[in-house]
Amino acid sequence: MSNYSKLVLSSFFKLFGIPFVVLSTLYYFYDFSLNSVVTAVIYSVLALGCLLAVIVTFKLNKTALRGMATVAITYLSVYLVALKMNLNTTPMEYLKGVIFTVLAIAFITFFRCVLLPKKDCAFYTLRKVLFVIIAFITLFLPLLLLCYLIATNSLISSDIIIALAQTNGAEGAEFFVSNVNYKWLLALLFLIAVIYINCKAYENLTCDPKAKVTTSFSIAIILIGSIFLAIPRIDYLPFAVVKVTSRQLDNFALYKQQKGVRLQKLSTLTSLKLNPDVDKDGNLFVLVIGESQSASHIQAYGYQKATTPKLVERLKEPNHLLFNNVFSSWPQTVQALSYALTNANQYNQVEVSDAYSLIEIARAVGFDTYWLSNQRKYGMYETPITVISSTANHEIWTNGSAKMEGVFFDEELVNRLPKVDPNKNTLIIIHLMGSHQKYEKRVPKEFRQFTGADEVVASYDNSILYTDYVVDEIYNKAKKNPAFKALVYFSDHGEEPHVVGGHDPVNVTYQMLKVPLFVYLSDSYRKNHLNLFESLKTNEHKYFSNDLIFDLMVSLMRIEGVPNFEESLNLSSKKYRLDKASTLTMYGKKHINEFSEEKN
Ligand SMILES: [Zn+2]
Repeated sequence: MSNYSKLVLSSFFKLFGIPFVVLSTLYYFYDFSLNSVVTAVIYSVLALGCLLAVIVTFKLNKTALRGMATVAITYLSVYLVALKMNLNTTPMEYLKGVIFTVLAIAFITFFRCVLLPKKDCAFYTLRKVLFVIIAFITLFLPLLLLCYLIATNSLISSDIIIALAQTNGAEGAEFFVSNVNYKWLLALLFLIAVIYINCKAYENLTCDPKAKVTTSFSIAIILIGSIFLAIPRIDYLPFAVVKVTSRQLDNFALYKQQKGVRLQKLSTLTSLKLNPDVDKDGNLFVLVIGESQSASHIQAYGYQKATTPKLVERLKEPNHLLFNNVFSSWPQTVQALSYALTNANQYNQVEVSDAYSLIEIARAVGFDTYWLSNQRKYGMYETPITVISSTANHEIWTNGSAKMEGVFFDEELVNRLPKVDPNKNTLIIIHLMGSHQKYEKRVPKEFRQFTGADEVVASYDNSILYTDYVVDEIYNKAKKNPAFKALVYFSDHGEEPHVVGGHDPVNVTYQMLKVPLFVYLSDSYRKNHLNLFESLKTNEHKYFSNDLIFDLMVSLMRIEGVPNFEESLNLSSKKYRLDKASTLTMYGKKHINEFSEEKN
């Protein structure tokens, strides 16, 4: 072999062979989560290897240290936030953050050496601008979290990103205008300052301008490749938020796409029918969905303040049942409700995009369906909730505007409750604003009864008191209809009033998961379905997750032949089987018994 072809071969291997071997090894092990020690070790070695390769290739000396240290500080500062906010960050998560930081240092240092090898190289200004852009890209994740924190004093959450992504242009502008203040300016200044400091820290770096092109190219492929691989999997703090968000936005898009397919399938589903024991005259069922209501602040569950006097009074009657161990499947609205309102749940393999909604099933057996909501209707991207609500025969949105503040208090829903034909079968689903954050804005003056040193808790408790009143008014109005059979109330998830954001999957606690559930039956319904009533009564203390609300409703409404319906997950069945050890949460990733009740 001639020297020339040897050179070509070795260059080729360096250019593509080495990156190929490294990345495919990584990819092979990467198929499972970074929680595996093997993957974590391989990834650490790779990150350190990349950094070392940059140092050796460009013959870096101590002058590079200042830049590297600055990037490290910027990246790791998010963990100070995590510590300060008491996020449940595990040692493994810290380790992953450190590994990712090393990769980021290798990335920015590499581009600094390639772009600005010498003080007076050609196109100096252009190169400098490019380096600032690279610095911005590298520092984007930590800066996103830090700037948002400065501007709003809260941790950016997937809820916020989703809400913004679902806002259309005009609403987005409105959101920005109504929220912009000097703190946003402060955040912008902070962003510019951090990028400036990082670029400045690299200013005196000296490197070998004649570094081999092949080696540099090889390093570039490995660096970009491993960052690319890391993005969907590594748990560097801001990622946890971004990752959850993007996955869920994909699911929402899919859910909407599948709507036609589901309706098509439903029309061919001949098994679906009403049980012959159903009242032939007409049936009215009401499902009320609460917002951010934690069972820990409800008097009926033992809370020391009288937050639910109406409920407490109602429970003295035999037709009214309170369930004591109910948990949310996910501590955020859209996610929790896309399980609660469809036949997808944590115990079956049904994807949300393929799942039938309660409304679709009810319509298929001839129910007239209503959706009443005091929550805000999302804009550009529809969520499963707006897709579900759009399939109802009648939709009533009291809060048409995009403003999260809302225009009306929840009582407006009572006023707008439709007068329905008692000779028909009707399902009314009501979505309250409930105890959504900015609690004081959810409650009219006359319900602001709790006061005290802890204003946040007082406002939160006032919102519970008000919801108690609103639900009772809905019940009073509904039961006047002779067709009334049952009212079911549950909350999408709980809340920790003192935690920033109130509820968040990144920092989930017992109180964010424990929710209320109660069922009010009519006299006639109880008498005609004594077995069902007895089963409900027996199951009052059993464990339950609110993704199974669909199954409970379908059973109460006496709909049979629902695909994937399991009697053992039906709370109104004698065969109901869930207990503390088998009840799931966090979309099936955790068991309820992994959470413990902390008093605070
Ligand atoms: Zn919610």
